[in-house]
Amino acid sequence: MNIAFIGLGNMGGPMAANLIKAGHSVTGFDVAGTTVEGARVAASAAEAAKGADVVITMLPNGAILRAVAADVIPAMTPGAVLLDCSTVDVESARAVADLAAAAGLGALDAPVSGGIGGAAAGTLTFMVGGSDEAFAIAKPLFDIMGQKAVHCGPSGNGQAAKICNNMILGVTMIATCEAFALADKLGLDRQSMFDVVSTSSGYSWTMNAYCPAPGVGPNSPADNGYKPGFASELMLKDLGLSQQAAEAADADTPMGQRALELYKQFVEAEDGKGMDFSAMLPRFEKRGRG
Ligand code: NAD
Repeated sequence: MNIAFIGLGNMGGPMAANLIKAGHSVTGFDVAGTTVEGARVAASAAEAAKGADVVITMLPNGAILRAVAADVIPAMTPGAVLLDCSTVDVESARAVADLAAAAGLGALDAPVSGGIGGAAAGTLTFMVGGSDEAFAIAKPLFDIMGQKAVHCGPSGNGQAAKICNNMILGVTMIATCEAFALADKLGLDRQSMFDVVSTSSGYSWTMNAYCPAPGVGPNSPADNGYKPGFASELMLKDLGLSQQAAEAADADTPMGQRALELYKQFVEAEDGKGMDFSAMLPRFEKRGRG
């Protein structure tokens, strides 16, 4: 396929590299001038998109996605697919899909989980919103860049799945960390806490697979000085998107709101920026009730 790849950052760069390795012809564009070995370099996003079968975007946020989409859609050939893999708000995803449909294009929102490691290894999970036709066209590309692609329904549903999942993740991580900090103060050692909770009704992915306590459970960022992993500021971004969606949809999400407040405080006022999101444990450890 002829693929345009817009946004060659930490995620987009290795994803584009995997498409090239699999034999696809990739033309790349990034405002920062970043390039990927084996990709043709375009002078603009619109130039990259011209004649492409699929235009992939991997960008920081919804406002940038909307601006790039307004540029590339008029340059695309009818029948081609605009495939956005960024994590953005549901409204932007749906607005971009509407613009694409009006121009006779397919559109998919396909945010990922798996992080930079998954992007490099080609083991991402894609959560996909959009039509069956567009999904069928993009499926071979999902198979190269990832290990799983779940078609979640119409446009916007991929973003909806992503932010609901990450709202659970943020809330659960905080619950796991505050419980460890309480256990410490009650004199319960962390290994016993892990052994009980990981096999009892308090178990979760954050406890069992990504334990925030160093030296306990499987290897995780806690065992590496809380180097991310999944950085706290990225969790903060995703919690912001889930609250934005909850407000728009009139959904009551008090735990998501509290998790947002705590990560905001952690990132902006407590040196949490650049730390893995599981570094909430040392944060709680240092605090009392006051
Ligand atoms: P990044 O900042 O490394 O990459 C974004 C790239 O987009 C940058 O290279 C930037 O120069 C480029 N860009 C910005 N505006 C542009 C424009 N107008 N035209 C062309 N290029 C432009 O970010 P990332 O870590 O690669 O993340 C990308 C997206 O993936 C984000 O939406 C993020 O939330 C999501 N995501 C990231 C991770 C992760 O672990 N990094 C995990 C899952 C999802």
